[in-house]
Amino acid sequence: MDRLTSQQRSRNMAAIRSKNTKPELIVRRGLWRRGFRYRLNDKRLPGHPDLVLRKYRICIFINGCFWHGHLTQCIVHNSQFTIESSVCCKIPKTNREFWVAKIRRNKERDREEQRKLAEMGWHCITVWECELKPKQREQTLDSIAFTLNHIFLQDRQIPKLYEAEEPEYLLAAEEG
Ligand SMILES: [Zn+2]
Repeated sequence: MDRLTSQQRSRNMAAIRSKNTKPELIVRRGLWRRGFRYRLNDKRLPGHPDLVLRKYRICIFINGCFWHGHLTQCIVHNSQFTIESSVCCKIPKTNREFWVAKIRRNKERDREEQRKLAEMGWHCITVWECELKPKQREQTLDSIAFTLNHIFLQDRQIPKLYEAEEPEYLLAAEEG
């Protein structure tokens, strides 16, 4: 059941970063409502981040928990590399090695892309699918908004005094 042809496999790989997935839409709408403006899937940047806020120099990745191995640990057991299942990412028992290798590659790619972006002076935020379940959604979106403003202030070293006095201007829409 889990054995995939190379064609199916590349289709799956494409789906990892497919556009307009539900979690991505939730984040886009949530940030838009909070006054943030962004670009989508910027092809000029490593990993084609789902959302890019140029003014803030921030990339946001919205990751599916299974494909990106959320909360999984890579471990070496009897000189064999493996990934343990987590609450977010249950590795299928059938054809396990295939899935371990695939999720490992995705995790490594994620790290590599974010390392490159950091070198280029970008901040990266990863939002996980599980953080967007209905009960947690608004809290997650508030916390992303808080982080965006925090990074923006930190980069500009704006004194705390102003942070307290004028939060509104930070939410000013970004052009384009
Ligand atoms: Zn998760």
